[in-house]
Parts: sequence; structure tokens; C-alpha cells
Amino acid sequence: MTARDLVDPFGRTIRDLRISVTDRCNFRCTYCMPAEGMVWLPKSEILSFEEIERVARLFVERYGVDGIRLTGGEPTVRAHLPVLVAKLATLVVPADSASPLAGQPIDLALTTNGATLVNCVDELRDAGLGRINISLDTLDREKFERMTRRDELERVLAGIDAACAAGLSSVKINAVVERGANDDEILDLAEFGRAKGVEVRFIEFMPLDAEGHWVNDKVVSQDEIVARIAAVHPLESVPARGAAPADRWRYLDGRGTVGVIPSVTKPFCGDCDRVRLTADGQFRTCLFATTEFDLRTRLRDGSSDDVVAAEIERAVGTKWAGHQINQVNFIRPKRTMSQIGG
Ligand code: SAM
Ligand code: SF4
Repeated sequence: MTARDLVDPFGRTIRDLRISVTDRCNFRCTYCMPAEGMVWLPKSEILSFEEIERVARLFVERYGVDGIRLTGGEPTVRAHLPVLVAKLATLVVPADSASPLAGQPIDLALTTNGATLVNCVDELRDAGLGRINISLDTLDREKFERMTRRDELERVLAGIDAACAAGLSSVKINAVVERGANDDEILDLAEFGRAKGVEVRFIEFMPLDAEGHWVNDKVVSQDEIVARIAAVHPLESVPARGAAPADRWRYLDGRGTVGVIPSVTKPFCGDCDRVRLTADGQFRTCLFATTEFDLRTRLRDGSSDDVVAAEIERAVGTKWAGHQINQVNFIRPKRTMSQIGG
């Protein structure tokens, strides 16, 4: 079959599929989950590895999708995750695709809170994982416990070291910045990244928290984040982000790069090439989408790949120009970050 691009109504070609493998998590970050009371999806509703692989193969082989990121919830709490990684790592972008990775294996990545990496990162690498992003919002043990509701800073730091030692093609740190919670540590986190030789990507706090405490005043803007770092470590912009969500800067002293994902203050929707599959097989064309397309039913009712593909194309045909955060017509999605897959 010849690969053809999956293009949305605004001319954006879909290249990146985010797959949530579970809605469960071993942390309870305040900007994501409530302390208690999350209702987990029943096991029967969660896609099996075979079902995930089928959807992933369709995206890669039919549409030239060249990047897959596994997320959650916390993806490493899904049993036997390396088995799924090994299945997905065999996917090759079709040689006739317009993707820059045509003819090569897909770019396979994972976003994790890092708490279990000491135990599993080598197995994930051996299974074919290429890149990893580890979340770390503070270097202070008490603040870490306040923000994640778990006393696990040491394990996460050890997980970062294990990931760096594992020889993956890229290790990055994700840090959500919330005013009043950890904005006093922007510089410390940037310096931690410089010392470790990993890129820190600061993320503007988004209205996807389960407790609904997001307000615009808690968002620390990209401009402010960059100004605070540049005041101590001069930066120059790295041009051409393309479809990647982070804007990037280079330290003028040559000690690495830093990124910011400015979802709220400088939305990058115009270049968005992402779509998402939730752990229960619902297909979303935006983190903030209010409509989901039920692929699970198609995967389980004997439908052919053509039927599943038709549903995917119907969904992509509804991808909107961009989210409306801070505008009067913004509607918070019913599901929150950990249920969608960040
Ligand atoms: N559990 C994994 C982790 O924390 O890295 C993967 C899933 S988590 C939902 C994916 C990313 O979303 C993490 O980097 C997390 O910090 C970020 N995130 C969660 N809630 C957020 C929010 N309300 N605004 C911005 N980023 C958020
Ligand atoms: Fe769990 Fe990640 Fe959400 Fe934190 S951000 S509660 S680690 S899913």
C-alpha cells in the first residue's frame, strides 16, 4: 500500500501519535490529579497491546506517521510495557512517505514521572525505546512531596541518572511551572539540566487539572521563564521549531539548550501535527478536544483496517484550528490530563 499523508482541514499533516497506555499513576500531582477519588478505567476497556499495535501500524504504514510517544497516566505502571515498546519499535516509516524519516524506524519516545526508571530503563532501551522525557518540577524534597503528593524525589533523581546512563538517543526533563508552587526554582532547574547535560523543557500550566484550580494567574509565561534564566545565563533563540511544541534556546556559553512549551501564552496550534489515542481507545485530535472518536468499538467489532482508517480520517477532518484557552468560548475537556494522556 502506498503511504499518503493524513492532512487536516487546515493543511497540517499528522506525523505524531501520542498513545496513553494507562490512566493510572503512582503519583498524584496537584496540577493533574486529585489526592483521592480518581475512578480508574475498568481493565476490559483498556486497549490490549495487540489493539494498540494495530492502530499504531495503521498510522505509520498508511499515513506515514513517524513519531509515537507513549504516555499516561504513568506509562511505566502498565505491566510488561517493554513488550509493547518492542512491538512498536519494529514499525518502519514507509519509504514512499513524505516524512523526513521515510524508510527508517519510527521515533519512539516515552513520557514518565521517572520513579520506576531505575528498574526498567535498560529493558525499555533494549526493547527499542529511543527517547525519554522525565517530569521533574522541583529539586526540593518537601516541595516535591507537596506537588506530587509522594515522597519520591530521590527515586526520580536516580531514575534520571539511570536514563542518562542507559545510552538512549535523548533524555529530557519536563517541568510544569505553576506560580506560587515552583516558579522560584526556574533557575535551579535550568542549572540542574546544564549540570546533567540534559535539556529542561518548562511547560506552562494548562487548564487540564482534575481539581479545577487552574487560573490564568498561576501560569508563568514563556517570556518570564526565559527572562529569568537569561538574566543569569545568556541565551540565544534556536530557530525553526517546526511542529515540535517547545521553543528552544541555546546557552551562549555553549552548555546546552533549554526549551519552553508555551501552550497558553503562545499557542503553537498552527503547526500542530499531533493526534492522541486514550488508554480506552478513544481518538482525539487535540489535548483540548471536546469530542472523541470511539476506535475501540471498531477494533473489537471485527471491522477491517479500512473501516478503522475511515473513522480516523473522519476525526482528523474535525481537527480544529486551535484551542481557545483564555477566550470566552473555551470549554474545559471533560477528561483531565492523566485521563487523556499528556
Ligand atoms: N506520568 C507521566 C509524567 O508525569 O511525565 C506522563 C503523563 S503526564 C500527564 C505528561 C506530562 O503532562 C508531564 O510532563 C506532566 O508534568 C504534564 N502535565 C500534567 N498536568 C499538566 C497541566 N495541568 N499543565 C501542564 N502540564 C501538565
Ligand atoms: Fe501522574 Fe504524570 Fe499526572 Fe503526575 S503528571 S499525576 S505523574 S500522570
